[in-house]
Amino acid sequence: AVPLVVTITTTLGARNGILIRDRLALEIVRQVDVVVFDKTGTLTEGRFGIVGIKTVAGMDEASALALAAAIESDSEHLIAQALRHTAHQRGLILPKISSFEAIKGRGVRALYDGKEVYVGGPRLLEMLHLDLPEEIAAFTRAEEAKARTVVYLCADSQVWAAFAVADTLRPQSREAVQRLHQMGIEVAMLTGDSLAVAKAVAEDLGIDRFYAEVLPEDKERKIAELQSQGKRVAMVGDGVNDAPALVRADVGIAIGAGTDVAIESAGIILIHSNPLDVVSVITLSRASYRKMI
Ligand code: ADP
Ligand code: MG
Repeated sequence: AVPLVVTITTTLGARNGILIRDRLALEIVRQVDVVVFDKTGTLTEGRFGIVGIKTVAGMDEASALALAAAIESDSEHLIAQALRHTAHQRGLILPKISSFEAIKGRGVRALYDGKEVYVGGPRLLEMLHLDLPEEIAAFTRAEEAKARTVVYLCADSQVWAAFAVADTLRPQSREAVQRLHQMGIEVAMLTGDSLAVAKAVAEDLGIDRFYAEVLPEDKERKIAELQSQGKRVAMVGDGVNDAPALVRADVGIAIGAGTDVAIESAGIILIHSNPLDVVSVITLSRASYRKMI
């Protein structure tokens, strides 16, 4: 039989926008040592807009944006949505593109005029062995210092343009980190984004440690690594990429606005997508299970 206090707690949670899919998750979340947050879509809203474009000499911004948006036409990624949205806003006509292919944690590839064309971040450049032209490198440094994600248009073994995408922190993220610290819990961040962007966000929020440019399959490995140090880990995420890490963690917590895959992989769901609800869940768990013993 389900203890009465658990039923009451589950109901209480639901009333506050906290859905408990797995009762065991609620029971053990009171004992976590570390809360690991995904960055994009979890600590941030994940609603991107293109706020800057830099092209190499000879390429105009409109053509670069139109081509990048076309390459991204098949991708569900938030960065893809931002490029398409901005191209549409500017009334651009997209060139004909074929053979789309997502390259997990790096970007996308397509065929344009029989040639391979790419859009992606630093891990894509690494894969293609491409260096940034100095004018674009300067743009990247300036934008990343402002915590903006930069992605690149690549073709013919060259980087042609860079796009700065802005995302905003969720208003409750900073307080969530502070409150967890007050509860004696360590806070970490995992992201596929670049080192500079991750550093800017982590410093802003007061996060203890962060891991940047993490490929999707390595998110799970990072969780396992923390566990092997004897820590009990809660993972909070929203994306398809977070699913294995959510399953691996002692407690998986999904953001309500996230993908179905993330939600199905988590024991607890925060309906309002509010990072402060992580604090509420732990408080609820501590209060309930103290009563039970
Ligand atoms: P996260 O959700 O942790 O930010 P992802 O694994 O989704 O990480 O993406 C990591 C990085 O890979 C992005 O910051 C970006 O640089 C690049 N990337 C992934 N998918 C795309 C895409 N469709 N278009 C452009 N860049 C992408
Ligand atoms: Mg995310």
